[in-house]
Amino acid sequence: MVDLRIAGGRVVTPDSVSNADVLVEGERISGVVSPGAGPDADEVVDASDKLVMPGVVDPHVHIDGPNSIDTYETGTAAAALGGVTTLINFAWQPWEGEDSIWEDSGTLRDGFERQQRLGEDSIVDFSLHGTLTREDPDVLEQIPELVKQGITSFKLFTTYEFGLSNGFVEEAFERIADEDAVAVVHTEDDSLCTRRTERAKEAGQAAAPEYPDSRPKRAEAMAADDAVRIARDAGMKYYGFHTSCREAAEVLDAARTDGSRIRAETCTHYTTLDRSAYVDQGNLPIIAPPLRTPDDREAMFEYLRNGIFSVVSTDHVAFKQSQKDVEAWWDGEFGANSLQHTLAVFQDEAVNERGFSYPFLARVMAANPARTFGFERKGLIAAGMDADLLVFDPNETYTVSAEDNESKADYSVYEEREVTGRVLKTYRRGELIADHGDVVAEPGSGEFVSRAVPDWTE
Ligand SMILES: [Zn+2]
Repeated sequence: MVDLRIAGGRVVTPDSVSNADVLVEGERISGVVSPGAGPDADEVVDASDKLVMPGVVDPHVHIDGPNSIDTYETGTAAAALGGVTTLINFAWQPWEGEDSIWEDSGTLRDGFERQQRLGEDSIVDFSLHGTLTREDPDVLEQIPELVKQGITSFKLFTTYEFGLSNGFVEEAFERIADEDAVAVVHTEDDSLCTRRTERAKEAGQAAAPEYPDSRPKRAEAMAADDAVRIARDAGMKYYGFHTSCREAAEVLDAARTDGSRIRAETCTHYTTLDRSAYVDQGNLPIIAPPLRTPDDREAMFEYLRNGIFSVVSTDHVAFKQSQKDVEAWWDGEFGANSLQHTLAVFQDEAVNERGFSYPFLARVMAANPARTFGFERKGLIAAGMDADLLVFDPNETYTVSAEDNESKADYSVYEEREVTGRVLKTYRRGELIADHGDVVAEPGSGEFVSRAVPDWTE
C-alpha cells in the first residue's frame, strides 16, 4: 500500500514523456510504474489527458527583502499556484544606504538568520543565496560557515549602491572557489548605467519607453565579460543571472570554450516580452536589465536551444502598482512579479508557439536548476526524489488577471494574456498545496532546504 497514486497521466522527465503512474509514499516518490501496475494506494488522483510534471525549481526569487514587499506567505502562495515547489531567495548582508531596509550594517550570517526566521511561513521549500553588499573583508570569512549550513551559492552585484568593484569581486570569487561553491552575478556596468540615468534626467527623458536606453545592452555584456574572465581564472562555478540580450549571451558563449564552469539563465519576461511593453504598460514592466528588442527575445530561445542558457527563472519581485505609478521612471520601483504564471506563460510560448518539447521544459525549469544549485532530491520524477509534482492540463486556456494574484503585487505584466496550459494541482513533498486555483496548504508547511555543493562535472 502507498499513500498516493497519480494515475493515467503522461509523465514528463528530462528525456521523455511516457504513460505512467507516479506512486508517492510519505514525502517521496516511491515509484514510477506502468499504468495500473504496482501496489494499491490510499488515494488515487486521475490524471488522464493531463501531464504529470516535476515541480518548478526557481533559483531567482525575491521575497521579503529590500526590493520586494511579498512575505513568504504571499510570495510562496503565488509560487504554489504557479507550480513552483522550490525556490531560492536572497539572504542579504545588511548594509547602510538609501536602498536599504536596515538601520545598521550587519553580517551575512545576520541576513541568513533573518531569512530563515521569516521563511517559517513558507508554503513551498526554499533556499537562499548569500548576498554580498559591501567590500568588507570580514564577509569573505563567513563564506565557509554558510556553505556548511547548506548555502552553496553567493550573489554579487556589479551595480547599485551595493555593487562591488572588480578588485573585490576577484577576491570574493577566489574564496567562493575555495569552497567549490557557485557565484551568481548581476552584471551591468555601473558607470554606464549611472551616467546614462543622469543624462536621461538632464534631458527630461522620463517616459517609460525611454527607460531601456539608460541601461544599454553593452553595459550588460561588458560587465559579464569582466566577471566571466575573473571567474575562469579563479576556477569558480559562475552562473550569470537574468541574461537579457544577444550581446551578453555571446560573451557567455565565448567564455564556455574551455568546457566549463560558466552557466547562465534567462527569465520568463525576456522570452515573452520586448521593450514595446514600456509603450503598452508604462512603468509596470520596469526591471533591470530592461526588456530588450524582438531580436534579443529571439536570441533567448537560440541560446536556450544550444544550451548556453540552461535555466529559465522568474526574478520575481513584488511591488504595488502605486509604487510604480510615478511621473518619471527613475522614481519608481524596479522589478516584476511572475511566480504565479511563469510555468504556464513560458510553456505556452516555448512549447505551443515555438515547438520546444515538454522534456525541454522539465530540464530548464526543474532538473537543471536543481542540479546546478545542489538540490539533491528536487527537480526529477524518479523513485527516491521528493514528491514535488504537478498535474498540468496542456489544453486548458485561461486569461491572466492580477485580480487572482496571491502576491502582494496588484498587477501583472501578463495581464489579459491568453495562455493555453494550466497548473491544476501542485504537490510539495507529497502534500497537495494548490488545487485548481486555490492554495490549500498552511504557511509553514514549506521547509528550508540545505543544499549540497553541486557537481558541475556531469
Ligand atoms: Zn533578481
